[in-house]
Amino acid sequence: MASAEFALIHRYFDRPQPGVPLAVGDDCALVRATPGQELAVSTDTLVAGVHFFPDVAPASLGHKALAVNLSDLAAMGATPRWFTLALTLPQIDEPWLAAFANGLHALADAANIRLIGGDTTRGPLSLTLTVLGEVPQRSALRRDAARAGDEVWISGTLGDAALALKLLQAQGTQAAIDSGLRKRLEQPVPRLALGQALRGIAHAAIDVSDGVLADLGHICERSGLQAVLRSEAIPLSQTLRQHMRTGIDWQTVLAGGDDYELCFTAPRAMHAAVLEAGRAIDVAVTCIGEMQAQDTGRSAVTVLDDQGRALSLAAAGFDHFQNS
Ligand code: ADP
Ligand code: MG
Repeated sequence: MASAEFALIHRYFDRPQPGVPLAVGDDCALVRATPGQELAVSTDTLVAGVHFFPDVAPASLGHKALAVNLSDLAAMGATPRWFTLALTLPQIDEPWLAAFANGLHALADAANIRLIGGDTTRGPLSLTLTVLGEVPQRSALRRDAARAGDEVWISGTLGDAALALKLLQAQGTQAAIDSGLRKRLEQPVPRLALGQALRGIAHAAIDVSDGVLADLGHICERSGLQAVLRSEAIPLSQTLRQHMRTGIDWQTVLAGGDDYELCFTAPRAMHAAVLEAGRAIDVAVTCIGEMQAQDTGRSAVTVLDDQGRALSLAAAGFDHFQNS
């Protein structure tokens, strides 16, 4: 390893990690897993120009790179423990790196997850994080565990990040858009406490990264079910309602993505327990529909308006290899 590379790692990514037998600096990190727990492992890559604007504030990028990975742990009901960071940089820009590291470490500290290693290479800007969490044996919230008759729930509000993205694409990345909306796009808050609170209450869960239509669609597919949602039940922020005064753009809200809310299913008998779990950690949870046995001829997720008519929405989700 080159000494410049080593100095960078040391300066920005090698920090004391209490409770970790061996973190940054050796061929491997050594961690001590808790007996009786399963390890939950997930990797996500963010590529400049694909997942974020290259001129995004580096502290926000540090936050978001970790947040989207923590969101996967949240969706399994796992407790964050360790992560690695593979960083590809076009050049060494110390102020950029310092701000990036600050954003990253601030969220890592808040989520109590330890950076234990990684890799540093030169090339087009991209970030790959691998997160490891722990969850008691057989209690993870899997996509294939929904049951017919389950209620479908969503945390927080939908569509704010997708709206922010639309505004920035139309007005330029430095436009003075609503700061709350920008925050929803650039600094999402992973719903870790909610995911853990839902163990033993919810059947299935997923984090909403590609829009609730696509992501709930994954639960439907893995569980062999369909979902029916009511548009008037979808929780929307005041800011989004103001921007969409002339009519809600359901395509953006339900298929836009980047929400990082949890979508989960739970038996009807757990309705009060779900509400109480949300109240206890001060996270809004809203019942938006139900899971049903598959009915051929219907798409996996149907959204009904207040007249009971199905909204016509384009197939959702972001496909990196579409038209390639
Ligand atoms: P090796 O050549 O054995 O793969 P490296 O030179 O890539 O080792 O890395 C040296 C040490 O620094 C390792 O412990 C590795 O995990 C850590 N490391 C490298 N890059 C990063 C990074 N971006 N963030 C955190 N740790 C890193
Ligand atoms: Mg290496």
